[in-house]
Amino acid sequence: MDLFEYQARDIFEKHGVPVLGGVVATTTEEARAGAEQLLGGQPGVVVVKAQVKVGGRGKAGGVKLARSADEAAEKADEILGMDIKGHTVHRVMIAAGAKIATEFYFSLLLDRAERRYLAMCSVEGGMEIEQLAVERPEALAKVAVDPRTGIDQAKADEIVAAAGFTPELAPKVAAVLQTLWTVYKSEDATLVEVNPLVLTEDGEIVALDGKVTLDENAGFRHPDHEALEDSAAADPLEARAKEKDLNYVKLDGSVGIIGNGAGLVMSTLDVVAYAGEQHGGVKPANFLDIGGGASAEIMAAGLDIILTDPQVKSVFVNVFGGITACDAVANGIVAALEILGDEASKPLVVRLDGNNVLEGRAILAAAGHPLVTLAETMDGGADKAAELAHAAA
Ligand code: GDP
Ligand code: MN
Repeated sequence: MDLFEYQARDIFEKHGVPVLGGVVATTTEEARAGAEQLLGGQPGVVVVKAQVKVGGRGKAGGVKLARSADEAAEKADEILGMDIKGHTVHRVMIAAGAKIATEFYFSLLLDRAERRYLAMCSVEGGMEIEQLAVERPEALAKVAVDPRTGIDQAKADEIVAAAGFTPELAPKVAAVLQTLWTVYKSEDATLVEVNPLVLTEDGEIVALDGKVTLDENAGFRHPDHEALEDSAAADPLEARAKEKDLNYVKLDGSVGIIGNGAGLVMSTLDVVAYAGEQHGGVKPANFLDIGGGASAEIMAAGLDIILTDPQVKSVFVNVFGGITACDAVANGIVAALEILGDEASKPLVVRLDGNNVLEGRAILAAAGHPLVTLAETMDGGADKAAELAHAAA
């Protein structure tokens, strides 16, 4: 989960990373009030910053300086509603202005291929780091970080030395990098990026921008992370699926898909898309993996989500019986249809294979539900489901 800058700022502050004051605002009036609060009646500068989960806001006109609360309200008025690379700005952060002497770059991320973390640091921050990495790769230090030891004093010193900080600055920056490691580690982040990390005219090191990605797999360790979710941006069906702990991704087609195991569901999407070419180009409507324990409740919850998708015209249930055998899955489907009653109104093609397949098929045949068609094979089921979706379109 990617965080907004203001959320990253708050998390930074919580872990002792030096940041400046920041207040989030969704209206010009809130922006004015936020600026008044930060300025405290004194002359000074605030920065009005678009809160969108995309980089390059500065270049796109989404970061503007203001010298008074009135001007902050004006700038907020310009920025709110702006479109930045396809993201509409619904919030701004009013941040205390910094007198920047120099801009640096720091990031820490998960290096999956090397099974460790990677710190990147440069004394040339602020500009687009991708450009720096391509044009002058020697200016971007890359230092491997062992997950077991993280960024301790020695590692922090190594990073700032590799980046080429001056001897006066090196210890100050190294101290901040250790606080950023604390953020990374204790919040279970997969990315912490600060661009720019600045030296102010007063000689302070401050994180002036923050990009944080949290590892959702570690969500169970962080009940407070749930509140950081941008529920307004989520697809409503995906949000409902998440509440029910379902592994669901909404797609654009009309054939609903339920399967067990991510690999099987992925191949089911391919097979349905392929079969769809023969039936008016219909496509899969979703990814839904109900996992190994395909119980009646999970099956009902999954069917419920898929059937409420107005784009769905037919459903393909493709289950390979393993530990949860096909007879249990078949009973699950029958029970799910009972639970759903009239809500189950679209044709279902069911393909079962694997453990206890004959018992499973017999249960579905005996139930004789008018909406259910049994398929012998995955290809045959995909073809039937695509045909039904096309016919209903
Ligand atoms: P980004 O463009 O989305 O990465 O947004 P940033 O938060 O990094 O801001 C872009 C640029 O705006 C920074 O690199 C700074 O040069 C400038 N900027 C941001 N905050 C301040 C501030 O408090 N004072 C000044 N003078 N410039 C700022
Ligand atoms: Mn930035």
